[in-house]
Amino acid sequence: MVKVNDGFSRRKFLSNAGKIGGASAVLGVTGTMDLFLPEENTANAAEVSVNNKKPGKNSQYMLLNVRLENGYKYENGLVVATETVLRNLQITNGKINKILDTTATYNKNLDCYDAKGMLLLPSFRDMHIHLDKTYYGGPWRAAHLRKNGIFDMIELEQTLLLELLPTAQERAEKLIELILSYGSTYVRSHCNIDQVVGLKNLENLKKALVNYSDKISHEIVAFPQHGLLRSNVEGLIRDAMQLGVTHVGGLDPTLVDGNMEKSLNTMVQIAADYKAGIDIHLHEGGETGIKAIRLLADLTEQAGLQGKVTVSHAFSLASLPAGEDEEMASLLASQGISIASSVPIGKGVMPIPLLQQKGVKVLLGNDSITDQWDPFGIGDTLQKAHLAAQLYGWKHEYTLSRALSLATGGITPLDESGKQIWPKVGDVANAVLVPASCSAETVARLPKRAAVLHKGVLASGSLEAVH
Ligand SMILES: [Zn+2]
Repeated sequence: MVKVNDGFSRRKFLSNAGKIGGASAVLGVTGTMDLFLPEENTANAAEVSVNNKKPGKNSQYMLLNVRLENGYKYENGLVVATETVLRNLQITNGKINKILDTTATYNKNLDCYDAKGMLLLPSFRDMHIHLDKTYYGGPWRAAHLRKNGIFDMIELEQTLLLELLPTAQERAEKLIELILSYGSTYVRSHCNIDQVVGLKNLENLKKALVNYSDKISHEIVAFPQHGLLRSNVEGLIRDAMQLGVTHVGGLDPTLVDGNMEKSLNTMVQIAADYKAGIDIHLHEGGETGIKAIRLLADLTEQAGLQGKVTVSHAFSLASLPAGEDEEMASLLASQGISIASSVPIGKGVMPIPLLQQKGVKVLLGNDSITDQWDPFGIGDTLQKAHLAAQLYGWKHEYTLSRALSLATGGITPLDESGKQIWPKVGDVANAVLVPASCSAETVARLPKRAAVLHKGVLASGSLEAVH
C-alpha cells in the first residue's frame, strides 16, 4: 500500500460536495450524414422533418414500425443470425412508455412518425474527445511536426490556444453537431485548463454545451494539458471544479510532471475534495505507465473512488507480457477503473478483449477530430467499435453483435444469451434509427444514422411524419 498524504477523508469530501454543479446537461442538432461526408455537408446539415413536424422536448408521440432485435438464431449451438420484430413505440416526456405490437391499437391523436422498418439501437457515447480544442470548422491543417514529443505540443499551445480562442465556442458547437449526426448523444469532453487560457476554454465549452442541452448529455474533464505540477495549475483546476466540471484530469505524471507520486496524489486529492471522478491521460508506455496505474489503483481505493476513475489511452497496457496483463486487468476491475481508448492502430495493440473478459469497462472515444495531434478523426464512435472489430477479428454474427456495446457504453438490445433487454418500457428514449437488419450488420457496415433521439428529442437526422 502506498502512503498517501492525510487527505482523502470522507468528511472533507462531503464538505465540498455542495459546491459542485450537476453532472449532466445535454444538447443536440439535426443532420443526416453519410460516412466521410465532407465537412461542408455535415456541419450545417440541418434537420429535416417532413411537414416541419418533429419530436421536441416534453413531447408525446408514436414511433411506428420500429425494428427491434429479439433473439439470436442458433445452428449447432452457434449464433448464425439475429432475429427481429416490428413494434410501435409510444414516447412520452423523453421515455419509451409503450412498446406495442404493430396490430395493437394506439392513440392516433398523437403525432406519429414512421420508422419504416429501420432498426432501433441505443444511441452512442463518445467518452473521450476534446470539444474545446479542434481545427474542425476552420481551415485544413495537418498534424504539427514534433521532435520533442509532447513538449513541442505544449510549446505550440502557448500561441495556438490564443489563436483558437475567439472561435472556440463555434468550433465546439460544430463538433457537437458532427458527433450527434453519427448518433452520439452522450459525450465526455476533456477541456484544457492551463496558464495560457486559464478557464476561458471551459467557459466557451460550457456555453456550447448549454446551447445543445436538449440534444446531448455531457461530462467535462478539467484537463491540465501542460502538466498539473509542471504548469502549476492546481488552483485553476480547483476553480474549474466549481464550474460544473465532473472529472479531474491528469497527464503523464512521470514524463510531464516529473514526480509521479506528487502528481497523482494531487489529482486524487482534488477529486476527493470535490466528490468528482478522475480521467487521466496516460500516454507513458512501459514501466512508468504501469507504475502509475498501480499507484492510481491504490489511491482510488484509499480515496473511496471505486467506479469513478478512468485511465485514458493507457498505452502501457499494450506492452505487458502474458500473465502480467491478466493480473493488471483484475486489479483495474477490482477498483472499478475503466479504460478509455480511441482504438489506436500502428502502435502496440491494446488488450481490449482481455480487459473486457476480466470485467474492466472499456469506453471508446474519437479523441482528436482534427487538431495539432491528428487529422484523421471522423467523429463516429460506432466507427471506433467497427475498427475494434477489425483489429480483433470479430467478424461473425455474435462477436460483431457484442461489439456494439463498445459504442453504447455497454447497452445492447440483447444480452449475451440472446434475451431481449433493450428497450424496455420506462427506458429513456436515447436511440438511433439505422437502415440495417441487426447490431452485427450495423457494426460491420456503418449505415447512415437516419434519426438520432436524445431523451425523445430528435437530435439529428429526420423522421417522416405520418398524416
Ligand atoms: Zn485526449
